[in-house]
Amino acid sequence: MTNLTKNFFYSLSQNKLLNESAKKWGFKFGADKFVAGTDLDSVTKTIKKLNRYGISGTVDNLGEFVSDQQEAMRATNNIIRLLNRINEENLDCHVSVKLTQLGLDIDEQFCIDNMRKIMEAASKFGIFVNIDMEDSRYEQTLRILQTLREEFENVGTVMQAYLYRAEEDLEQLKDVRIRLVKGAYKESEAVAYQSKAEIDRNYLKLAKKRLLGDAFTSIATHDHNIINELKAFIKENNISHDKFEFQMLYGFRTELQYNLAAEGYRFCTYIPFGTDWFGYYMRRLAERPQNINLIVKDVFYDSNNKLKKKPLVIAAEAATFLCLLRKRKNSGK
Ligand SMILES: Cc1cc2nc3c(=O)[nH]c(=O)nc-3n(C[C@H](O)[C@H](O)[C@H](O)COP(=O)(O)OP(=O)(O)OC[C@H]3O[C@@H](n4cnc5c(N)ncnc54)[C@H](O)[C@@H]3O)c2cc1C
Repeated sequence: MTNLTKNFFYSLSQNKLLNESAKKWGFKFGADKFVAGTDLDSVTKTIKKLNRYGISGTVDNLGEFVSDQQEAMRATNNIIRLLNRINEENLDCHVSVKLTQLGLDIDEQFCIDNMRKIMEAASKFGIFVNIDMEDSRYEQTLRILQTLREEFENVGTVMQAYLYRAEEDLEQLKDVRIRLVKGAYKESEAVAYQSKAEIDRNYLKLAKKRLLGDAFTSIATHDHNIINELKAFIKENNISHDKFEFQMLYGFRTELQYNLAAEGYRFCTYIPFGTDWFGYYMRRLAERPQNINLIVKDVFYDSNNKLKKKPLVIAAEAATFLCLLRKRKNSGK
C-alpha cells in the first residue's frame, strides 16, 4: 500500500468528527467482522465461544482520545461493569484499556484516578489489566504504569518494536508482563524504524530476549514468519509454554488462531467491542490493504452480491463524506 493511502487511513482514525458520527451510524464498512458487537451481552457470547476452544481473551471496550471529563468517567464505569461481568460469568479473559479513553488528554492525575478505580475492581477479582500503547506523544504511559505498579501487581503494558527506544524500555520492564507488537501508529523516522525488514528484525530480537527472561510475554502478531521462527526458538531453548502466549486481533487469521491453540500453545484473542469502533477500524485498514476490499463489498454490495444502491446515490454519499472531511481539514481540527 502506498504511504499516501496509509496516511489517509491514519488521518481518518484520528478525525474527531468522523469518530463521533460513527457512534451513531452503527457498524458500517465491514467493521462487524473485526468488532465483537456493541454491548456486553454480545462480547460475552464471543468470549464464551473462544473459551470453549481453549482461547482466552483480552477485551477492549473501545474508546480513545476522549476530551470530555464525563465521557472519561463513563468509560471508566463501563470498564468496571465489564470487570464485574467477567467475574460473574467466570470468563477466561482480562481487559485492555487506553489511557486517552480515561482522560489522559484532559489531565494526567484525573486519568490516574480513573485507572486506580479500574485497578481496584480488577484486583478484587484477580483480573489482569493491560494498558494498550498509543502513539509516541503519550510518553507518560510508562510513568503512569510505574505509579500504578507501586500499588497493583496485575497491570502491564505493550511494547512497540518499531520504536528505537523499545529495547531500553523493555530492560526497565524486565519484571512486568508485556505484550510485544510491531506498532500501529504513524511515527516519524526520528523515533521509529520505517521499513518492514527493520521492524521485523527488531521484533524478533526483542521477543527472543523476553522469552529467555523471567516475566510473561504476549507475542502479538499475525505474521506467520515471525510466529514460525519463534516456535522453533521456543523448542530449541526448551522454553516453558507457561511463560508466553500468542495474541491476535479478533477477526484476523481466525483459522491460525484456532490452530495455534489446538497445537497446545496458550492463545489469547484481542476482542474489541462497543460503539466507538471507527478509529480502531481505520488503523486496521491502514495496516492491511486487503481489509479495504471488505469496505468496498460492504458499501456497494448486499449479501447476494448485488449492488446495494444506484451508482448516483453512491456518488452523492461519497461526495458528502469528502466534503465533511474537507470542512474538518479547513477548520484546522
Ligand atoms: C493482540 C494485538 C494487540 C495489539 N495492541 C497494540 C497496541 O497496544 N499498540 C499498538 O501500537 N499496536 C497494537 N497492535 C497492532 C500491531 O502493532 C500491528 O500494527 C499489527 O498487529 C500488524 O502487524 P503484524 O505483526 O500483525 O503483521 P504485519 O506486519 O501487518 O503482517 C506481516 C505479514 O503477516 C501476514 N498477515 C498479516 N495479517 C494477515 C491477515 N489478516 N491474513 C493473512 N495474512 C496476514 C502477511 O503475510 C503480512 O505480510 C496489536 C496487535 C495485536 C495482534
